[in-house]
Amino acid sequence: MDCLFCKIVEGEIPADVLYQDEKVIVFRDINPQAPFHALVIPRQHIPTLNDIADEDCELVGYMLKIAGDVAEEHGFAEDGYRTVFNCNTHGGQTVYHIHLHLLGGKPMGWPPY
Ligand code: 5GP
Repeated sequence: MDCLFCKIVEGEIPADVLYQDEKVIVFRDINPQAPFHALVIPRQHIPTLNDIADEDCELVGYMLKIAGDVAEEHGFAEDGYRTVFNCNTHGGQTVYHIHLHLLGGKPMGWPPY
């Protein structure tokens, strides 16, 4: 499958991995938009949020739990952080393997455009 993030899962493309287990991998974004910017991805290939099946709900919740754990580990959980799932064109999605952006280390603006 020609999926960039599947290639990171398979170790075919290098990444700065911060955490991994049997379900997810967390690695630094190659083009950070905050002092800390990582992506939480499932090992399982799910193209977009629109493709999440009932049986994937636990996995997606787990991605959020892991994002909080990584924020804690990197010392910005208390100050706060931003998590984002982009979906399809209007959402600004560019890689079609779901990923949770975890951004921290500075105050975030709202709205995000
Ligand atoms: P999206 O725009 O789909 O929500 O986010 C995709 C993210 O993947 C972007 O923030 C982009 O910088 C990041 N990205 C794209 N290619 C690579 C890569 O090869 N390695 C890493 N670590 N991040 C990537």
